[in-house]
Amino acid sequence: MTDGAVPPARPRSIVILGGGTAGWMAAMLFQHRWGASGTRITLVESKDIGIIGVGEGSTPQLKNFFDELGISEAEWMPRCNATYKAGIAFHGWSDQPGFETYFHPFQTAVDAFTEAGFFQNTRARRAGQPVEARPDRFFVPARLAAERKAPVAPANFPFFISYGYHFDAHLVGDFLREQAMARGVERIEATIASVEIDSEGLVAALIDRDARRIEGELFIDASGFRAAIIEGALGEPHRSFANNLFNDRAVVMPTPVPADGPEVATRATALSAGWAWHIPLTSRSGNGYVHSSRFIDPAAAEAELRAHIGVGPEVEARHLTMRVGRVERSWVGNCLAIGLAQGFVEPLEATALHVVMHTVDRLIQTVDRDGANEAARADFNAAVTRRIEGIRDYIVCHYRAARRSDSDYWRAATKHDELSDSLKALFTCWFRGGDLAQEVIRQKIDTIYPPLSWHCLLGGYGNYPPCVASQATDPARVDMVEVERFVSGCASNFPTHRDALAALAPGASAALAPGASATRAAMEQVG
Ligand SMILES: Cc1cc2nc3c(=O)[nH]c(=O)nc-3n(C[C@H](O)[C@H](O)[C@H](O)COP(=O)(O)OP(=O)(O)OC[C@H]3O[C@@H](n4cnc5c(N)ncnc54)[C@H](O)[C@@H]3O)c2cc1C
Repeated sequence: MTDGAVPPARPRSIVILGGGTAGWMAAMLFQHRWGASGTRITLVESKDIGIIGVGEGSTPQLKNFFDELGISEAEWMPRCNATYKAGIAFHGWSDQPGFETYFHPFQTAVDAFTEAGFFQNTRARRAGQPVEARPDRFFVPARLAAERKAPVAPANFPFFISYGYHFDAHLVGDFLREQAMARGVERIEATIASVEIDSEGLVAALIDRDARRIEGELFIDASGFRAAIIEGALGEPHRSFANNLFNDRAVVMPTPVPADGPEVATRATALSAGWAWHIPLTSRSGNGYVHSSRFIDPAAAEAELRAHIGVGPEVEARHLTMRVGRVERSWVGNCLAIGLAQGFVEPLEATALHVVMHTVDRLIQTVDRDGANEAARADFNAAVTRRIEGIRDYIVCHYRAARRSDSDYWRAATKHDELSDSLKALFTCWFRGGDLAQEVIRQKIDTIYPPLSWHCLLGGYGNYPPCVASQATDPARVDMVEVERFVSGCASNFPTHRDALAALAPGASAALAPGASATRAAMEQVG
């Protein structure tokens, strides 16, 4: 292929079924990467069906997405009531004294200065030495969250800090729709009644309720849990994760913004049969209790959430059913499944939109590099499955390694034997005092969650034996005074969350605009 030529496998037309966040994100990416070379993008959405309307926390990948599209934070964040997210604060997942809470930061450039000390101390602590091994003491994002500072590095700070966002799912959908249409994506409002499959088993057209045919070369199934094309028409099997991820329901309700402003982290609090999220927006806080119907009924879950967030019956609750698992193959023939149609792990690490972006990006790269043949599809599907299952294992670890046994749910979640070989090897390494960073790298799963995330999770719960004071003689012990000086010194450079959000308002000065950009590799990690 000569420079500038359009790769031959690029489709001339793409039809996206579904106008949720997944569908509109895909529309924007396809239009941006392929629109100029002649690919026509059409998105079909139904006003009768609507979107799921939850999914309000992101990983740092969302910044990559908006950066690539040339959309500034000042443009989209105020429109979507968005806030900054430095990571996730876990509360009540461990009953170990001193480990009742821990913070999972998005890995960031400054962590390189303290990460080795933290790893060293977790290893010493696993050997019984009474050294500091709580992750929050070592990492800048945890300090920013504690001080309610935005993770937006000022221009004179020499390191980029990775961060994600919280946002209103409906407003993001509206914003993306408006942007995509302005950039040339065609929108059709229709409810699809059937899918026409040709003699070779490929999707030929979507047929709406008025018998209108919508033809395309490539079809994107973004129809949510319905999975109307990939499962409904093509019959691709669904692989459930229910044997090791028990949660299948959520009950959701809002609370007002706290008097001291929105937090800079998602809060994930363990409850009797699952966990509750608290997602801070500029207009409200989103709350939801993700739980297992095997262990609690919807009314009891709703009552428990109301008690947890202090909300009475005057606030309406929404109940949702979740299907946890993935389709066997995401790319089948000329159909790619994304979003909830592709699968759903569960919302604990807010990874769903990350997987949408990753899947579309990988498809575009695969088609442009290798074409759309059987071998390219097989490699693509294997890579996407590895990523989804890598995320699943990290989420499963949250439950299996938790230190709670005060309800049937927690006794079951911390005892079951349904672990992948990868996760078994990580547990063996940790509990036998091995080098966990090396094990994560050996398994090549560090591009999904880096060693720092695994150490924070296992160490954050206090998965350590009792300390033996007399062994605390390691001459290479980490100097915690130095660590504290570094972490607090870095944090002192950052603006308050309130100031950073105010700087995004129309007409505000751009003095707080982020100085540098993260590397692509760092932004592709989930954690
Ligand atoms: C409880 C919960 C919490 C979550 N939290 C997070 C989070 O914090 N972070 C995160 O990244 N993700 C989260 N998610 C996942 C997130 O909500 C979804 O990944 C995201 O909203 C994308 O959904 P979607 O676009 O795939 O589906 P939907 O929003 O359900 O959209 C489906 C679209 O398909 C259309 N459609 C369906 N059938 C037809 C038809 N026959 N004809 C025409 N149109 C049709 C609908 O009209 C709609 O436009 C959460 C999910 C749940 C259940």
